[in-house]
Amino acid sequence: MNFPTLANKYVCDIPVYEPGRPIEEVAREMGLKPAGITKLASNENALGASPKALAAMRAALKSAHLYPDGGAFYLRHVLAKKLGVEPGNLVFGSGSNEVIEFLFHAFVAPGDEVVVGDCAFVIYKFMCAMFQARCVEVPFQNFTHDLRAMRVAISPKTKLVFIANPNNPTGTRVPNAELDWFIRNLPPHVICVLDEAYIEFLDDPPPSIRYALNHNVVLLRTFSKIVGLAGLRIGYGVAQPDCIKLLERVRQPFNVNAVALAGAQAALGDAAHIRKTKTLTKRGLRYFEREFTRLGLEWVPSVANFMLVRLGDGDRVFRGLQQRGVIVRPMRGYKLPEWVRVTVGLPAENEKFIGALQEELR
Ligand SMILES: *Cc1c(COP(=O)(O)O)cnc(C)c1O
Repeated sequence: MNFPTLANKYVCDIPVYEPGRPIEEVAREMGLKPAGITKLASNENALGASPKALAAMRAALKSAHLYPDGGAFYLRHVLAKKLGVEPGNLVFGSGSNEVIEFLFHAFVAPGDEVVVGDCAFVIYKFMCAMFQARCVEVPFQNFTHDLRAMRVAISPKTKLVFIANPNNPTGTRVPNAELDWFIRNLPPHVICVLDEAYIEFLDDPPPSIRYALNHNVVLLRTFSKIVGLAGLRIGYGVAQPDCIKLLERVRQPFNVNAVALAGAQAALGDAAHIRKTKTLTKRGLRYFEREFTRLGLEWVPSVANFMLVRLGDGDRVFRGLQQRGVIVRPMRGYKLPEWVRVTVGLPAENEKFIGALQEELR
């Protein structure tokens, strides 16, 4: 049996996503104990999940034999109130990445165009390959989306435009005024997707909820980053009800599991955990800035919970750090082979990383 000849042609060409390496896997490979390994590779929350979420999830396990509430009734209402939107403005996904897939299912046909930044979150590009869309990559300027150039790249065939704000892996944001200009000048046949996975880390976020309610804009948000539920897989989209209804049609009935629903709802009520995470993250970024500067390294100012640093041969330093028990993320896949992305950890983890880096660069 020759499976590739049986497969849809385009499937063989879909690139393979390289995730941050799991602790257990690196431990096995390096002959180290998992406890001796620090993972600063996937922008996870160094404080762990919210304690309130953990308690709610433990309670939810008692009903694990029942299918989840496919309509996410309670979470939907609590979240709508918190955001100041209607329950019909929300759609939930198994991670916000699944909502990206809904958008392609609903709006993108083979041959359609999707505009993205060339150093933006890679999943958009992968989805284009999966849905046989033409991915129009617009070069970043100064590690940031170039919104003027992205506006120029929009053609009559464009269906979606993606802006990750703040962006992963660069940690940069677009100025609020530029974003406002872009949204106001969006042609009516184009949907702008604002990926706001890290929006809670900003002190002066754009009025994006208003954009989602009044323009062709879909917001993507997640419980994976600031509230620390990456392993549970839950995120959401915010858009006008007519758009949400279409996204609901391409959503499987039980895509979000019951434990995640309970954890997300409880996490919304844990303001203290969110505050602590923000404070820890800011301190960590300031620490990295000081240390990278002291080591004479080039770095990109970040407003998220990770940072890019230029190390020469990114792959080599990545492997060296791994041997020293620190997992970071090499950036070759983003065409930034000299750079490595490091997530802010606990202070001791950040120090371990800097110590290992210093030895590695010696
Ligand atoms: C982490 C991240 C997401 C979130 O993905 P989930 O599927 O919700 O875990 C989305 N967009 C960007 C840019 C990210 O970095």
